[in-house]
Amino acid sequence: MKILVVEDETKIGDYLRQGLSEAGFVTDLARTGLDGHHLAMTESYDLIILDVMLPDIDGWRILQSLHDAGKNVPVLFLTARDSVEDRVKGLELGADDYLVKPFAFAELLARVRTLLRRGATPVAETSLKVGDLSLDLVRRQARRGGRCIQLTAKEFSLLEFLMRHRGEVMPRSLIASQVWDMNFDSDTNVIDVAIRRLRAKIEEGFDSKLIHTVRGMGYMLDEPAQE
Ligand code: CA
Repeated sequence: MKILVVEDETKIGDYLRQGLSEAGFVTDLARTGLDGHHLAMTESYDLIILDVMLPDIDGWRILQSLHDAGKNVPVLFLTARDSVEDRVKGLELGADDYLVKPFAFAELLARVRTLLRRGATPVAETSLKVGDLSLDLVRRQARRGGRCIQLTAKEFSLLEFLMRHRGEVMPRSLIASQVWDMNFDSDTNVIDVAIRRLRAKIEEGFDSKLIHTVRGMGYMLDEPAQE
């Protein structure tokens, strides 16, 4: 599997190339938009990871150009936090998925694997739904029963993670590594506190609970069982 990374920030580019190589992918790194564009048009890749903000030609023009040339390689684009317009624009231009910077490498790898499994089918997941709780992944908004819920960036990531794994018990250690990109060997209190805050926001004032504590194991998000 061959991946092209187009990223002008040296540190991020090196980090991605190294991480992806270690994960077993053949990885080319382009540090400018023009280089990236040239490689994308002339070489054959299974996936392109495309930074949007590039100093010469931006990610959008590269994406547009690939699209015009009929290249249907899956594209994962990297965007800045809080740039809703970017996310909407990228998906409209035919990108398959996006990641908001800064991101955890584990998350990037998970998205890469999903895209490669899916091939070039351009269906980006734009929302998640469990019961009356919905998460708009593009606008980064949570709603329950029609009511808008304000979440911090970390709470949003936590909720997204639990919703992507609905019905599965998630151990605290896994939540720590996937959502915080850290290992909490001894102190998983951080997770418990974050879960408590999230519960207060998505459960208080509603009839049913969505986040369930599985004693001695972790947390699980699912619709309440019907009585
Ligand atoms: Ca950049």
